[in-house]
Amino acid sequence: MPTHAVMALIWIDSRICATLPTMPTPAEFERMLRGASLRITRPRLAVLAAVHDHPHADTHSIMGFVLDDLGEVSHQAVYDVLRALTDAGLVRRIHPPGSVARYESRVGDNHHHLVCRSCGAIADVDCAVGSAPCLTASDHHGYALDEAEVIYWGVCPACSATPTRNS
Ligand SMILES: [Zn+2]
Ligand SMILES: [Zn+2]
Repeated sequence: MPTHAVMALIWIDSRICATLPTMPTPAEFERMLRGASLRITRPRLAVLAAVHDHPHADTHSIMGFVLDDLGEVSHQAVYDVLRALTDAGLVRRIHPPGSVARYESRVGDNHHHLVCRSCGAIADVDCAVGSAPCLTASDHHGYALDEAEVIYWGVCPACSATPTRNS
């Protein structure tokens, strides 16, 4: 089952019964790794859990969450795991201009992002047209296109409510 479907199911369940877990279980993370032909290791499980639990977290934050979880892990190990998970498609890396790279577990659904110019907050937004936008470029110059990224820039509600922070 795709990650997104797993999360949606759990989200629906959690509204029905508050005692159900709101996150995939370690067994589900193991299944995701196996499905991507990745060896199951504690750092990989910990990074997957951290990214699921903290959408759009940056590398530094993920490092902290994984350290809390495992007690000990090298920065290099976390970098390597993030790269492996991203390459395997289990995690998506986004890199809004002016921001550090961020990671999320909501993959494969072509959703876009709203980014606040003031505080850098990021929110998910479903694709407006339902498929990768503008992949049919007006002139593709011979490039083989596989992605068109959309970022909506603006000011988040919290920042709109406190205009002095913008100055
Ligand atoms: Zn903001
Ligand atoms: Zn997102």
